[in-house]
Amino acid sequence: MNLRLNRLTVSIIILSLICLVSGPVSAKSEIVPGGPWISDNQTVNLNAFSSYDELVKSLKQTEKASKGLVELEVIGLTNQGREIYLAKIGDPDKTPVMIQTQQHGNEPIGTESALKVIKALSTGNAAAMKILNELYVLIVVRVNPDGAELWQRENDDPTAPDRRTSRYIYTSGGVGWDINRYHFSDWTDCPLYAWYMTDPVTYPYPENPVPESVAVMTAFLNYQPIWMVDFHGQATYVTDEGENVTSSMLWPTNEDAAAVVDLSKQLCVVMMDQMSQYGFATVNLYPGGPEPGIARNAYGIEGAGSVLVEIKGGIGQKSNGMLVKHAVEQMMAILEATADGSLYMADPDRVEELDIGRTPYYKQIPANGNEDEPTE
Ligand SMILES: [Zn+2]
Repeated sequence: MNLRLNRLTVSIIILSLICLVSGPVSAKSEIVPGGPWISDNQTVNLNAFSSYDELVKSLKQTEKASKGLVELEVIGLTNQGREIYLAKIGDPDKTPVMIQTQQHGNEPIGTESALKVIKALSTGNAAAMKILNELYVLIVVRVNPDGAELWQRENDDPTAPDRRTSRYIYTSGGVGWDINRYHFSDWTDCPLYAWYMTDPVTYPYPENPVPESVAVMTAFLNYQPIWMVDFHGQATYVTDEGENVTSSMLWPTNEDAAAVVDLSKQLCVVMMDQMSQYGFATVNLYPGGPEPGIARNAYGIEGAGSVLVEIKGGIGQKSNGMLVKHAVEQMMAILEATADGSLYMADPDRVEELDIGRTPYYKQIPANGNEDEPTE
């Protein structure tokens, strides 16, 4: 398909805008060496990531080889008609847990990690069964396949309006919607609905206009997982010590999600401890807002433990494998800790250890950053 040909190679300039991070901020002058940094002129071969066709083929092969352990469900259709897949692994009578990846099309690492986790669990080997004897593992793989094919943050919707600040419209006008602002179990709770009621011409949204958000929320409500962890990609940051941040995390910060904050923090602590044993990994805190339609908040409001994980997005051949492994380790750690109960022994207050600073590191400062805006 033409789209596929167009995305074979993309300049690092585009990649550096992943999750449109804030600026202007001066880069730290003293950076701990060792990278992996991507060089300014390096092009990134997107063949390292699965195309939609490859993704579907991989999922179907895994399902077929799993002898019934993995079942695929199509939970929705994108505006371009692509099917959104939920991989359901194990016994539906066990405790359900849920992971989602790639709400933002140009943040692909979590999807590659999820494919590896699904494959590992599909073997039904001893390590897999240790998890599957306790848990029903649900993974929405690539929430935003249209955005992935177009290599853009938003979904594909040419009718998306121009963004109006503080109007709860998160879009690129004429391009698409930011899926991660529209997770509502009841659309009438969304500010867009209230504006529709007063001005339906300007805001023609009697229903949620973002099919990907609806698909994930519907699957969540259907299976009622005890937690939902959402994998994204961010730019490159350094800690106060000058260390290269490989992932950042945050729990729900909307006041209606207070009941699940401890469980969410426990998930963070488990992932933090898992990564602390690896020299390549540095994990810190993500600064996110209270908007109710952000998945991290939305699924917390619905009563599930909920975490945002942002994997470092300075993607290049040198670091792809490391970053995919990073998210695999985080996914497996929370599955294992939930299955063996150690999750519930973790001290939630230890998330304080994640507060080790966060300064954007730019080879070039983006011209259009907005420092006040969380970008998850
Ligand atoms: Zn994102």
